[in-house]
Amino acid sequence: MIQTLDISVTRTSQSKISQVDFQDIQFGKIYSDHIFIADYDGQQWSDLRIEPFANLTMSPATSVLHYGQSIFEGLKAYKNEAGEALIFRPDRNAARFNKSAVRMCMPEIPEDIFLGGMRELIKLDKDWIPDRIGTSLYIRPFMIATDEYIGVRPSQTYRFMIFTGPVGAYYSKPVRVKVEKKFVRAAEGGTGFAKTAGNYAGSLYPAQLAAQQGYDQLMWTDAKTNEYIEEAGTMNLMLVIDDTLLTPPTSGTILDGITRDSILTLAKDWGMKIEVRKVSVSEIVQAIEQNRLQEAFGAGTAATVAHIRTIANEGIDYELPAIEDREFSNKVLKALDDIKYGRTEDTHGWVMKV
Ligand SMILES: *Cc1c(COP(=O)(O)O)cnc(C)c1O
Repeated sequence: MIQTLDISVTRTSQSKISQVDFQDIQFGKIYSDHIFIADYDGQQWSDLRIEPFANLTMSPATSVLHYGQSIFEGLKAYKNEAGEALIFRPDRNAARFNKSAVRMCMPEIPEDIFLGGMRELIKLDKDWIPDRIGTSLYIRPFMIATDEYIGVRPSQTYRFMIFTGPVGAYYSKPVRVKVEKKFVRAAEGGTGFAKTAGNYAGSLYPAQLAAQQGYDQLMWTDAKTNEYIEEAGTMNLMLVIDDTLLTPPTSGTILDGITRDSILTLAKDWGMKIEVRKVSVSEIVQAIEQNRLQEAFGAGTAATVAHIRTIANEGIDYELPAIEDREFSNKVLKALDDIKYGRTEDTHGWVMKV
């Protein structure tokens, strides 16, 4: 499937790896030695290369800086016991990246460049994959518009890049989330399903207000009625009520998470009752009040499962059941970790060995 690509490699003359404290890795602050780059000239992708990770230089008039044609992905590589690098479902990231590209009027990138470039990069920086429990190598593919032009129109040229960095556990403790009914993350017809920079920019201010009130994340509601829940911060939202796994369907406003899909697949394998449907805030509040809500968590690559311990709605903090009593989310987190770290058989073909 992945052919050998013509990638030119310039190795760093001075690896930074000895400066890294692998015992205490801070999320998102450390970058490995190399970066993969490909350029789009308006016709095709070319000049595939791996270079030392370094600053970019660009004109202040570069289109992405003004109009935000910028998309990204986030995934992880794990080290198994034999010391091999495993990447979890990267084909799904490649497909989603191209969906985001189409929505943002950017060129799609062939899967073999996306996956092949990633594979070569991880091979070269394999020593950067940490091997302590809960750690991994975060992989950030992204694309930006590079025309030097400040008129509003889709850029003709683009740059695709992938860099990586070792990460520890994303959340150290369960999160408190606030139901958001004033601000919205995404509206039908908008860009909510795309992994694009602007969605994040627009979410920062309401998230900051919630943080000032003591909440870690927002629970977004739909833009029309503010009654149905959508996502938890930048994760998909999942609940267990009456022994049934509940999550809203992906749509134009909800990002199609790979963690979400993987969890639904495992739950189905296990014969769990699943309902993928709209879930209202009042249904959640009622289930909490009647002690029928057993679990609530965010699902995403960064944390895999982020347990929610508090849901705040209209000024009331609802405390949820103790984390250690949460059978499903703890079990699915362990099952996914076992697959990602190669400790169990990969029956779904989710893991790409580098
Ligand atoms: C990336 C992302 C997710 C999680 O997707 P995964 O593929 O599971 O990492 C969920 N919601 C939003 C808004 C995201 O950007």
